Amino acid sequence: MSESTSSTESRVAVVTGASSGIGAATARALAAQGYHVILGARRVGRVEALAAEIGGTGRQLDVTDDESVARFVAGLDAVHVLVNNAGGAKGLDPVADADLDDWRWMWETNVLGTLRMIKSLLPALEASGDGLIVTITSTAALEPYDNGAGYTSAKHAQAVLHRTLRFELLGKPIRLTEIAPGMVETDFSLVRFDGDQDRADAVYADLTPLTAEDVAEVIGFVASRPPHVNLDQIVLKPRDQASARRNIRTG
Ligand code: NAP
Repeated sequence: MSESTSSTESRVAVVTGASSGIGAATARALAAQGYHVILGARRVGRVEALAAEIGGTGRQLDVTDDESVARFVAGLDAVHVLVNNAGGAKGLDPVADADLDDWRWMWETNVLGTLRMIKSLLPALEASGDGLIVTITSTAALEPYDNGAGYTSAKHAQAVLHRTLRFELLGKPIRLTEIAPGMVETDFSLVRFDGDQDRADAVYADLTPLTAEDVAEVIGFVASRPPHVNLDQIVLKPRDQASARRNIRTG
């Protein structure tokens, strides 16, 4: 590899869901390493503003929409890093009371959204000669929890899609890293509880959750490893959280 292509100055990173939380922090972290970051989200004003700040490019993206994804990836011939971050949860109901629209949203966004992005960008990742796919799953991809089946099943499916590629892409110049965070204080719970701020705040009360920057720093570390080093899976949780189902609140 020539010096110019191994320099991060000419390297392109795509971050989905870059309008808030982990995605926005990741866009900043990768830009700080010299990547040209292409930021996507439905709230295009937010990604354009952040792109202007970090010298990247903001484009509207709805990962649940084939045409939106096709417009977003148009002209991206060589992509070094794809961060599949767009996603989230809706509701917290027992299976007996499952809201099918909530389930559809979670599966469309987390699972099929990730599939659409990967399918669309695989040629560009391979063409870069040193591609990396980072998928933000969750501890919800590792264990089920009460009332969370819509989200945990979507995250399990997203994770299996990602892990399958580790086999299917063997021999190609593409690395794969799954990042499985525990509790991170972002807009995640606000979205999950449909804008109910008190309910969202209660999720993080009396413990110290991770910040979006904590996760972004780890993604930055992954992206800065040399091409022969593949970090397969990284689970990161707050010290106060031992599993998806067990944490300590000290008040
Ligand atoms: P967040 O602040 O709510 O960010 C979610 C991002 O996803 C937003 O930028 C949102 O942008 C984007 N998004 C949602 N639907 C989209 C769509 N159809 N097309 C494109 N973008 C879409 O929450 P976050 O915590 O940073 O979540 C990021 C990822 O981390 C998610 O996959 C989540 O499941 C995962 N995660 C979060 C936690 C946590 O505790 N926070 C833990 C483990 C894993 P727009 O609304 O502008 O489209």
